[in-house]
Amino acid sequence: MIEAKKRFGQNFLKDSTVLNKIIQSMSNTNRNVVEIGPGLGDLTQELLREKSLIAYEVDKDLCVHLRKKFHKEIEENRLKLVEADVLECFEKGSLEDQPYDLVANLPYYIATKIILEALEDPMCQSLLVMIQKEVALKFSAKPNTKEFSSLSILSQSIAKVTILFDVDQSSFEPPPKVISSIISIKKNKEFYQKQDSLFDSISDFKQFKRYLRVAFASPRKTWIKNISAVYDKTKALDLLEEYNIPANFRPHQLCVNDHLNLFRELLKIKVNNGKEDNKHAQ
Ligand code: SAM
Repeated sequence: MIEAKKRFGQNFLKDSTVLNKIIQSMSNTNRNVVEIGPGLGDLTQELLREKSLIAYEVDKDLCVHLRKKFHKEIEENRLKLVEADVLECFEKGSLEDQPYDLVANLPYYIATKIILEALEDPMCQSLLVMIQKEVALKFSAKPNTKEFSSLSILSQSIAKVTILFDVDQSSFEPPPKVISSIISIKKNKEFYQKQDSLFDSISDFKQFKRYLRVAFASPRKTWIKNISAVYDKTKALDLLEEYNIPANFRPHQLCVNDHLNLFRELLKIKVNNGKEDNKHAQ
């Protein structure tokens, strides 16, 4: 019997109703599917009924088990199993050289990092992933709520984000301490087709991520207070006036579009001021 390893965030999904619901929620496309953390292979087995897939698993004991369980599918090239830490793979570039959909019950200790990497991976077109409910609420939150954060803005600036359903602890072996949610993140076509894109390139998207880090440095402080640690305060105040935004607004009170507009204007300021450029690039 294979024991679950805490250090790899192993909580195996054992509920066939939930497995079926995940499969039914998948996008109906002929794109490739990538699974991160196939574990004992229960979700993998269901996915293989629908599609060929590439699965990334870090645990070598589980890889031995998966190679045995799926030897036929591996031989027939319907499953490619990559034994590796997926975060290291993201560092090297896209997980696939073709457009793909990510479907996974993610290891919770690195779920946010994986989602952020997948958002930046131009080959990844959509994510259907199980994560902690608390984190799912952050990605899908609306302005003026306590969960609305840089994660909400970053993901919603390029994708439609929806929580599909919650999953109780009893569906897993061993049960996790928290409630889980299945979240769907479908990237807007404009983002990956690069026509009329909000961002001209992934590098602009990365800059937007840095802008959000500054804007939300102290979420309880006002946007202007946070931003003026890096940008010229007078110019930033002028921008707020131009966009009819009260100067005492906190970052979570601004909607996604406000942040995008302010970011684009600040990029122009950055060009005019080398000092700000250096700080922003850190
Ligand atoms: N998919 C299985 C299921 O639904 O039962 C297992 C999900 S379990 C929550 C997370 C899986 O991710 C485990 O198999 C774990 O070994 C794997 N994992 C953890 N860290 C990883 C990493 N850095 N790269 C790839 N896989 C990882």
